[in-house]
Amino acid sequence: MSKDCVFCRIARNEEHASYVYKDKNAIAFLDARPVSEGHTLVVPRMHFENIYAVPEEEVADLFKIVKKVALAISKSEKADGMSIIQNNGSIAHQVVFHFHVHVIPRYLGKDSQRPRTFVEKTELDEIATRIRKYI
Ligand code: ZN
Repeated sequence: MSKDCVFCRIARNEEHASYVYKDKNAIAFLDARPVSEGHTLVVPRMHFENIYAVPEEEVADLFKIVKKVALAISKSEKADGMSIIQNNGSIAHQVVFHFHVHVIPRYLGKDSQRPRTFVEKTELDEIATRIRKYI
């Protein structure tokens, strides 16, 4: 656990996040600056900087959650497609250096949000509540 890592703080419940899924090893919550509505991050509770640092078994378990979350978002938000993205290193656009997988629903006729801006917590909580019904 890293003291100044935002995902560690979320995992310890010290910072608000709009949860979609939680278990003893992992959490999934909505990105505060979503690319699209329902954009979710799947994150191990333990602090691993990147894919190279995560034990193989944990990666496998995390991707089971990625699938579960992707399916729930797809049904809840009636997404037309789903991007699963995992970035490692600044050059690869990793911003938070705690391993995470982006689950990004795509919608026909709707462009991804550029630039990404913060969405109100209340709005994110509503979306998360919708998605949780399908988990
Ligand atoms: Zn961390």
